[in-house]
Amino acid sequence: MKNLSVRFELFFSLTIAALITVGCQSSNSSGGSGTTSPAVSGATVQTHASQTAMTPAQALAELKAGNDRFVTDKPLHRDFPTQVKATAAGQYPFAVVLSCLDSRQPIEIVLDQGVGDIFSARVAGNVLNDDILGSMEFACKASGSKLIAVIGHSNCGAVKGAIDDVQLGNLTGLLTKIKPAIDAVPEDDQARNSKNYKFVDEVSEANIKLVLKEIRERSPILREMIDKGEIGIVGGMYDLKTGKVQFYENDSK
Ligand SMILES: [Zn+2]
Repeated sequence: MKNLSVRFELFFSLTIAALITVGCQSSNSSGGSGTTSPAVSGATVQTHASQTAMTPAQALAELKAGNDRFVTDKPLHRDFPTQVKATAAGQYPFAVVLSCLDSRQPIEIVLDQGVGDIFSARVAGNVLNDDILGSMEFACKASGSKLIAVIGHSNCGAVKGAIDDVQLGNLTGLLTKIKPAIDAVPEDDQARNSKNYKFVDEVSEANIKLVLKEIRERSPILREMIDKGEIGIVGGMYDLKTGKVQFYENDSK
């Protein structure tokens, strides 16, 4: 009888510990980057409780911490089969990320995120359209995400295609969306062509910032959430040579 009681107590403690681990955000920073990250440990997943408790600033801190983990080759150890089972009944991603189609910028990997952690929209040149805007509204208004991140990358082929005025089937229309960013880079004495990587990256940065502006202008739902501080919005640039994402925090809210 006593043994049974001890076993029950042990089971009870383990169950509570497991519930706390799954249901709450660990206060431990997981990245060693010095930022306060609400990241959960590798085997756990985002829950309604963890998503609700997260602020837009914490969501950004977690993306930064995740990228630090990627760059330093210290990703969280994730038990993917367990994460799959734990997320089957529902998802509570803390951010929605728009990034480029480019195979060298696999966004969950470079931000070290697991199953159910972030919504991901990918399209060449990380351009905006009605469907992506609707997806962001779904992510934030209907599903509770706390941050919109638009992350482009260096040496982007889509941006180079826009600069070179490439004409190719349906790609032509996509590249048209990037062209306002070319005009947004002030004239100076540098070459304004796709062989000038500095110019290409300046156009990419301008493109990201125009997309951020467009999100606010074209979505009254998201604009209101941003203005009320319910969600944040931030741009960033992924460096293909280093794996590092530089976030444009001064332009975020
Ligand atoms: Zn690209």
